[in-house]
Amino acid sequence: MRLRGLSVRVRLTLWHAGALTVIVCLFAAGIVLFVEKRLYRGLDEQLAGDVASIEKVYREETGDLGELHQRVGMMFEVTEGTTVVYRTPGWPPSGSTPYRVRTAAADGHRIIAARDETAVRQTLRTLLLIVAAGIPTAVGVAFAGGYFLAGRVLAPVGAIADTARRITAESLDARLPVEDRDDEFGRLAGVFNDTLRRLQEAFEQLRRFTADASHELRTPLTAMRSVGEVALQRSLTTTGYRDVIGSMLEEVDRLTRLVESLLTLTRAEAGRIPITRQLIDLGEMAISAADSLRVLAEDKEQTMNIAAERDVQAECDPGILRQGLINLLYNAIKYTPAKGTISIRVSVPRSGEAAIEVSDTGPGIPIDQQGRIFDRFYRVDAGRSREDGGLGLGLPIARWAVEANGGRIELESEQGSGALFRIVLRIAGTPHAPAEV
Ligand code: ADP
Repeated sequence: MRLRGLSVRVRLTLWHAGALTVIVCLFAAGIVLFVEKRLYRGLDEQLAGDVASIEKVYREETGDLGELHQRVGMMFEVTEGTTVVYRTPGWPPSGSTPYRVRTAAADGHRIIAARDETAVRQTLRTLLLIVAAGIPTAVGVAFAGGYFLAGRVLAPVGAIADTARRITAESLDARLPVEDRDDEFGRLAGVFNDTLRRLQEAFEQLRRFTADASHELRTPLTAMRSVGEVALQRSLTTTGYRDVIGSMLEEVDRLTRLVESLLTLTRAEAGRIPITRQLIDLGEMAISAADSLRVLAEDKEQTMNIAAERDVQAECDPGILRQGLINLLYNAIKYTPAKGTISIRVSVPRSGEAAIEVSDTGPGIPIDQQGRIFDRFYRVDAGRSREDGGLGLGLPIARWAVEANGGRIELESEQGSGALFRIVLRIAGTPHAPAEV
């Protein structure tokens, strides 16, 4: 049967009504056959009784066959060879009246008895009539009921489709109606709603990111423009022009760093930065990263301590991990006031895990902001940080760098008492931790 092209409601109704019709027909046929068999068996039993009575009367000559006919009312004929011994009036039964006949022959005589089966046929006809009228009625009710029920059951689908059609990028906060969370449609709508929620979050993040990025790009451009405009309005000495060019180059520098960081993050998110893994000594890496920034710390007369356990090794991408560590160290130096202390420690705090800790004696990070400092463009004190050249991208990149290597970053800090960032990695050779059940 080709039902394609019809609505689900009609298809459901047709299947339902079709199945019910088959069942009702089979059931009705069964009843008719059963009743027919029962009725004819009753008639046959009566005929068998008739023949036995006739036989008895005939053999024992206990009575008159004519009187028997009068008493019982059936028709019969008794013959002996070709001689007719007795024949009820009107024998043989013929004409329009239907008869059921039974024959018994023994010892040279033969008894044929016949009974009118009109009543049986009448009963069967009535039964057939009832069935013939009942089946279309039942099918009609099944069809109407099925159509109504299918409509009711499928109503949520219509509502879901209507809402889904109205959802656009601007109205991602709309949700599909859920009547019953536990039924199939409710679960489907729930899954859709979860997807919508994730889409909405991703969209909002993208929107925020674009807005923030544009804002960040505009700041140095505006600065360059105003410096340039002011310089153009006046005639300056060579030193004056050099200063102007110098400050413009500073802004260009900032722009370059911003664009590079953005590119790193975007490519990292798109999974376009290939990660190679090799065995590296975390102590050696920490020492070399600290050495490369030592000059910045010395400028601020900060003390830099390194305590590294020997042979703490992890399988990582050295370039990416180093970038993450440098960002943490750079922040520690940047945010710690002059004459402060930066400490780096490489250790094995738990079996199977290696840690690189970068701690400082700077202002620390207020507890309520700790959850957000890894967000892109987030700065604890936007004004102060911008003066320092902060972009709010150092920590997001550091986090990506560590997570790309299968590790995590932890933060321990209280306002006023310094910050401690901890990179936790799996030690080389230890199996992956089993997923939490
Ligand atoms: P930024 O380029 O502004 O440093 P980051 O993403 O590296 O951006 O850091 C986000 C914010 O976290 C910074 O603006 C700063 O306020 C805060 N922060 C990061 N590291 C430290 C630290 N060691 N001590 C105090 N504050 C820090």
